Amino acid sequence: MKRTNLVIFLAFFCCIHFSCDFLIKKEVPSESIVHAGLPPVNDLAVAKNVIFLVGDGMGLGQITGAMYANGNKLNLERFKTIGLHKTHASDKLITDSAAGATAFSCGIKTYNGAIGVRDDKSACETLAELAKKARMSVGMVATSTIVHATPASFYSHQPQRKMYDEIAMDLANFKPDYFVGGGKKFFDRRDDEKDLIKMMQSEGYTIGNYFDNEFLEMDLPEKGGFGFLTADEDPLPVAQGRNYLLSASVAAIPFLAKRSDRGFFLLIEGSQIDWGGHANDGDYVVSELLDFDRVIGRVLDYAEKDGNTLVVVTADHETGGYSNIQGSTMDSLVTKFTSGYHTATMVPVFAYGPGANKFQGIYENTEIYQKLKSVMDL
Ligand code: MG
Ligand code: ZN
Repeated sequence: MKRTNLVIFLAFFCCIHFSCDFLIKKEVPSESIVHAGLPPVNDLAVAKNVIFLVGDGMGLGQITGAMYANGNKLNLERFKTIGLHKTHASDKLITDSAAGATAFSCGIKTYNGAIGVRDDKSACETLAELAKKARMSVGMVATSTIVHATPASFYSHQPQRKMYDEIAMDLANFKPDYFVGGGKKFFDRRDDEKDLIKMMQSEGYTIGNYFDNEFLEMDLPEKGGFGFLTADEDPLPVAQGRNYLLSASVAAIPFLAKRSDRGFFLLIEGSQIDWGGHANDGDYVVSELLDFDRVIGRVLDYAEKDGNTLVVVTADHETGGYSNIQGSTMDSLVTKFTSGYHTATMVPVFAYGPGANKFQGIYENTEIYQKLKSVMDL
């Protein structure tokens, strides 16, 4: 009815002000009137699968350094949709990884140290929990311990990030379909003397660890969950022989796809880019970022072929105030840091796949949650 009224009004208007021939010769562009103001089609997109990659401490400085150190190319350059997010926590301008990851997992600003809890320490429901409720499969791979702040904020609810025994118990109760990371001792040498590995095995999990096998020697089970603990505490830096981030991430995709016909949510963290920043060690930063970038390449190959997978790469914050200064060449970077901790600088977001356009622009870190939730139709 509105459209009809508009056409009558336009006809009337035209007849008064112009010759009525005008109306006869030129049709009213009805489509553009009907669609004016609607969002672009991609904003309504839903993806079956989401692969969310967090480069802890990965700012533009780190990306630039790794790109030049790698012969002026990165897989990150394949993305065409790019945004920036603001990282501040509820209590501090400079966030930590716990508040930063809880912003992604729950869509709230909370205090530094908070794992999946609000300022008042009450639990917030996470994307991984929502995905599980929707019967999607859920997996996570990290180069820190699997109970470290970034992965923990997706499945755990604890008032302080250092409560590793409690966080490991939360993991066992959450039951991700797939997890790979360090921190074995928080599962089998705990203050409460419980053995969470045995407990999970009794519930159908296949759980391997670095002491018995390399990750690549593991056969992934046809049924039940899968976990692999890559170190007793923190895994090694890649430069010292850690070798599982790519293989564990690539193996996660078909594993999770087989576990549910509703799709999957996979979190992949390049955890130690941050540790290189804390150590003010440019080579550490670059080697960790290149390890992470290899994974990004393989994930993008999958998403391109699949067509139903959203890939989002971002950081929780920048670490170290990394920059390459005068005197740098492509073959020999001179790196300076302005801090041994995180900085407030905005960090980039890269997106590819259905719903990727939502990630353009400048926004709060909490909006990553809103955007992912909407694309996952949760
Ligand atoms: Mg982290
Ligand atoms: Zn850090």
